[in-house]
Amino acid sequence: MHKKELKVETVAPFKEIIDVIKEEGGDPFKFCYQCGKCDSVCPWNRVRTFSMRKLVRQASLGLTEIESEDIWRCSTCGRCPQNCPRGVKQIESGVALRRIATQNEVFPAAVEPLRTVSVGLMGEGNPFNDERKNRGDWAQGLSVKPFTKEMEVLYFSCCYLSYAPRLKKVAAATANVLNKAGVKFGILGERENCCGESIRKTGNEELFTKLAKENIQNFIDNGVKKILVSSPHSYHTFKNEYPEFMVNFEVVYVTDYLNQLIKDGRLKLSKECPKKVTYHDPCYLGRHNGIYDQPREILKRIAGLELVEMADSRENSLCCGGGGGRIWVETPKEERFSDLRVGQAVSVGAEVLATSCPYCITNFEDSRLSLDEGVVLEIKDITEILEELM
Ligand code: SF4
Repeated sequence: MHKKELKVETVAPFKEIIDVIKEEGGDPFKFCYQCGKCDSVCPWNRVRTFSMRKLVRQASLGLTEIESEDIWRCSTCGRCPQNCPRGVKQIESGVALRRIATQNEVFPAAVEPLRTVSVGLMGEGNPFNDERKNRGDWAQGLSVKPFTKEMEVLYFSCCYLSYAPRLKKVAAATANVLNKAGVKFGILGERENCCGESIRKTGNEELFTKLAKENIQNFIDNGVKKILVSSPHSYHTFKNEYPEFMVNFEVVYVTDYLNQLIKDGRLKLSKECPKKVTYHDPCYLGRHNGIYDQPREILKRIAGLELVEMADSRENSLCCGGGGGRIWVETPKEERFSDLRVGQAVSVGAEVLATSCPYCITNFEDSRLSLDEGVVLEIKDITEILEELM
């Protein structure tokens, strides 16, 4: 029988679903005692009804509906694992369910775009299906060289910063700041792939493995030892997931790196920024990797800048909605967490919503369109703020 004609019950009988979840490290789901604390912090419940507790319960009983859109809702923000008293690994369990759906090509209409994304990643190494040869075009005219092993660091700009017109400005700002500080860095351009973090969260393990292995081979072939990244998703997968392939590159996040350059006196901030700025903690930088202070330290070093905190900051940061592969699917307007976040920034009187993640910037800029006329809120990556000070 052709795979698509199979009934879900035949493809994934109860035991098989449970086994796959266990294989993926989701065995602790059985510890769930249905307290509902996950639901109390889940951002979905600020915009519509969604129950992680129910999803975990169904999975534990082998009653998961693979065709359900609910298995695709989790943005892997990390709020519920943080709040769960029983150590249930909600993210791993959810990815295991998505693996079954992906392997059997069961995609509800809402996540159909994942098919196109996979085609682009498979053929061109990026989710936009843009040509691989264009990957380094963002760097034209910026005195950015191809990476050689004598350089201090490889700058891995990620797919969004390489291809999306808005985010190319962040890559350019980063290159300009690094050049100003005299950092010897280079890029791999068309020799690099997507890091693969988000496609892995959609359950496409095979594609993640292909992307990761090709990147690792390129890093080794080019003598890469230290990788500088501008996306928390690249940071997370290089640091925490690529070691599964028995490699360990030194991975540094751009805010850590730039903060150190300022401390060392290599980067001088010569101008003032007399603005009220609030900082949004990206889930994969904060909750998943514990980086909260360095971005704020940079902002506090800027003369004239007033840093204000929003509700739901640091460990409680409100997800933008872009993790877990959801950056590639359409979320109905009334269900966007990013609309709430932009509203929180406005409510503390911020003139600038600063962050350090291409997904967050993309979602916030979309949400900004819904602000009332006359409300001005700039959405900026921290490197863009720094670039303006030089
Ligand atoms: Fe189950 Fe943990 Fe959610 Fe409580 S917080 S319902 S134990 S998954």
